[in-house]
Amino acid sequence: MSKYPLETIRHSAAHLMAAAVKQLFPGAKFDIGPATENGFYYDFDLDRRLTPEDIKAIEKAMKKMIGRKLPFESYELTRAEAEKALAADQQTYKLERLKDIPDDAVITFYRTGDFVDLCRGPHVDNSGEIGAVKLQSIAGSYFKGDEKNPMLQRIYGTAFASEEELQAYLTMQEEAAKRDHRKLGQELDLFSVSEKVGPGLVLWHPKGAMIRNIFETFWRAEHYKNGYDLLYTPHIGQSVLWETSGHLDFYKEGMYAAMKIDEKDYYVKPMNCPFHIEIYQSRMRSYRELPLRWAELGTVYRYEKSGVLHGMLRARGFTQDDAHIICTVDQIEDEIAEVLRFSLEIWKAFGFTKIKPYLATRPAKAVGDPALWDKAITSLQKAVEKAGFECEVDEGGGAFYGPKIDLKVRDAIGREWQMSTIQFDFNLPERFDMTYIGEDGKKHRPFMVHRALMGSIERFFGILVEHYAGAFPVWLAPEQARILTLTDRQHEFGDALKKELRGLGFRVDVDNRSASLGAKIKDARHDRIPYILVVGDKEMEDHSASVRSRREGELGVLSIQQVIEKLRYDLDNKII
Ligand SMILES: [Zn+2]
Ligand SMILES: [Zn+2]
Repeated sequence: MSKYPLETIRHSAAHLMAAAVKQLFPGAKFDIGPATENGFYYDFDLDRRLTPEDIKAIEKAMKKMIGRKLPFESYELTRAEAEKALAADQQTYKLERLKDIPDDAVITFYRTGDFVDLCRGPHVDNSGEIGAVKLQSIAGSYFKGDEKNPMLQRIYGTAFASEEELQAYLTMQEEAAKRDHRKLGQELDLFSVSEKVGPGLVLWHPKGAMIRNIFETFWRAEHYKNGYDLLYTPHIGQSVLWETSGHLDFYKEGMYAAMKIDEKDYYVKPMNCPFHIEIYQSRMRSYRELPLRWAELGTVYRYEKSGVLHGMLRARGFTQDDAHIICTVDQIEDEIAEVLRFSLEIWKAFGFTKIKPYLATRPAKAVGDPALWDKAITSLQKAVEKAGFECEVDEGGGAFYGPKIDLKVRDAIGREWQMSTIQFDFNLPERFDMTYIGEDGKKHRPFMVHRALMGSIERFFGILVEHYAGAFPVWLAPEQARILTLTDRQHEFGDALKKELRGLGFRVDVDNRSASLGAKIKDARHDRIPYILVVGDKEMEDHSASVRSRREGELGVLSIQQVIEKLRYDLDNKII
C-alpha cells in the first residue's frame, strides 16, 4: 500500500511524463495533465506528430526518472513573476491557464528535474514513489475542448503504486477488450447501431431480441409474483405534463424537441414517472389501496452528446425497467426493505452476487420537509442493515428531490457497475398534488419512490454480454443446443430431432450443411452454444447423440431423454 491516493500518484506521473517530453522535445509547450478515472494524460503542443517510437522513448525516460527519485519541489510566485516566467519560456497555454486562477489564490509551481509546472498539487514527495507507469495511447485534443482553439497532442497513460497492480490492471483491460459488448454483439449477431437510423439507437437482431424477450418475460413474471402490477404508457406527452413535472424547467436539454399535433406541443418521454402519476390521479385514492407498486418496461429517449455514446452502455433510446412505489409514511420502511431484497434476488438469477449499496443523503439545496428526509434516510439505512449490508454513505450526495440508494454490482472480471437505484421523491407528489384519503377521512400526501433494478434493458444487456463473455447460460441462450449431422444420411433425423426438442420448448437448431464435422463444431463453439449434439448412423438408430457441453466438455453418447433432462436441469436451476 502506498501512503498516497492513486489520484496523487497518477497526477504526479503526468508531471513526470511532461518532464520526459521536455527532455525529448525541448521546444514543447505544455497545457495541463490531470489524473483520470483509470490513469492520467497530458496535452502538449509539439513541432511534429508523435509516433509510437516517441511514446516508447518517453516511457523509458519516465522510468529512468522514477529510478532517480527526483523530488517534487514547490515554490510560490506572485502573478507578475509567474507571468514573466511563463512568457520567457513561451508557455502560451500556461499563460491562458494562469488567467483562470482567481485573483486571491496563491500561485504555486512544482519542479521535477528540469521540468517546472504551474500547479496546485498535491504530488508525491519524489518520483520514486510513483511506482509503475505505462503509456497507452495518443489522441488529438483541442485546447480547452474548444474546436476553435489549436489542436494539441494528448498522451494517455496509467500509473499504480506497484508493478503487480499495474500488471493486474493491464490484464483486466485486455480481458475487457476481448469481452467488449460492441465487438461480441457483432460477432454473435446480437445487435447493431446504424448510422442511417441514428447514433445511440439500438437495433436488436433476432438472437439479441430472443435474449431480451426471455429477460422481459422473466422480469414481468417476477414482478407480478412479488406484488407489482404492470403498466403500459405512451411514448409522448403534452407540454403541460412536462411543465407540471418540472422537466421543461430542469431537464429540457436532455429532451428531444417538441412536435406539434393539433396546435399542441408534444414531447417524447425522457422518463415514465409523470404517466404513472396520471394513472394514480385518474381517481380518488384511499389508504386501503396503498402501497401501490407499479412497474413498466418503459422506453424513453434522452439526448446524450454523441461523444459519450457507447454501444448499449450509453444510448439515446432505451427501455427502463421502471417501477414506482406509492405508499404511506408508515409503510415506507417495509417497502424499501422489500425492494432491496427483491433486487438482490433478481441479480442472483443472473449470477451477480457481489453487490454493494451506497446511500446518498440530503444536499444543501433540497425540496421537501427535512423531517420527511430524515424519515426516508432512516428507512433506507434500516433496509440496508436488514439485508445484511454495510452501507457507504455519500453525505449530501442525494438529488434535490430525495435521498437514494445505488447498488453497485461487480462483474466476472471485477469491474464495478452502478446498476440499481432506489430513489425517494418529495418533488413530484407535490407538483402533481398527489393525495390519498387516510383513515381519518382527511387528505394526505403519499410517499413516492422510483426504482430501476437493472437501469435499462440496453445497459444491462451490454453488461451481461461482457459478464458472460458472450457465453449466455442455458436459460438465456438464444440457441440452447445445436444438432450437427455427420453425413447427409442423418438429414431427416436431425430435422425430426430439432422438431422434437422445439416441441418441448427448447431453443434448438440443426446444422446439416455438407461441411466437415470439424467446421461445424468450430462454428457452434464460435456461437457459444451450450450443448452440441453430434448425430451419426449409430445415434440415429439409438435415438441418441454424442454430446459436448460448453461447461463440462465431452459427455460421450447420451440418449435424447438424458439430453432433455440435462437441458431441463440447467434451465430450472439457472445454471451459469
Ligand atoms: Zn501537479
Ligand atoms: Zn420515476
